[in-house]
Amino acid sequence: MSNRTLTMIKPDAMKNGFSGAILDMIINAGFRIVALKQTKLSTEKAGEFYAVHKERPFYGELVDFMSSGVIIAAILEKENAVADFRTLIGATNPANADEGTIRKKYATSLGENAVHGSDSDENAKIEGDFFFSALEKF
Ligand code: ATP
Ligand code: MG
Repeated sequence: MSNRTLTMIKPDAMKNGFSGAILDMIINAGFRIVALKQTKLSTEKAGEFYAVHKERPFYGELVDFMSSGVIIAAILEKENAVADFRTLIGATNPANADEGTIRKKYATSLGENAVHGSDSDENAKIEGDFFFSALEKF
């Protein structure tokens, strides 16, 4: 069981003005912010982040979308962080997301679904290191 996960508030939610409300939900759900920054991914960096999906038909669309605007990246800490955060964000497709989840409230569509959450402890570590140096984590 891990105690850290990595999230991104994706370009759709940033453009729609939901970043404050989403961070509020995250903090109210008991996650502590270990690191946080606003940044913008180049297509190259977005492609690297989602490299696991390289062979999928939606990869190009995903990379274009994730590099289309600014994002907020954050490392979050809580007992059972990876699984509990996936519960908080809801299903990948907001049409299938439970009531009260971040994606149900704030996502636009399957492709533009407001937030990212790591899917394993191993990826949480890799993704945290992708965005943050040791000097940026507290
Ligand atoms: P994320 O990794 O962003 O937290 P996820 O783990 O819920 O999302 P993944 O299977 O990792 O879902 O897919 C990564 C992203 O690719 C999804 O968030 C979604 O925006 C996009 N995606 C996934 N499946 C499809 C699809 N069938 N068509 C279009 N886009 C898709
Ligand atoms: Mg994923």
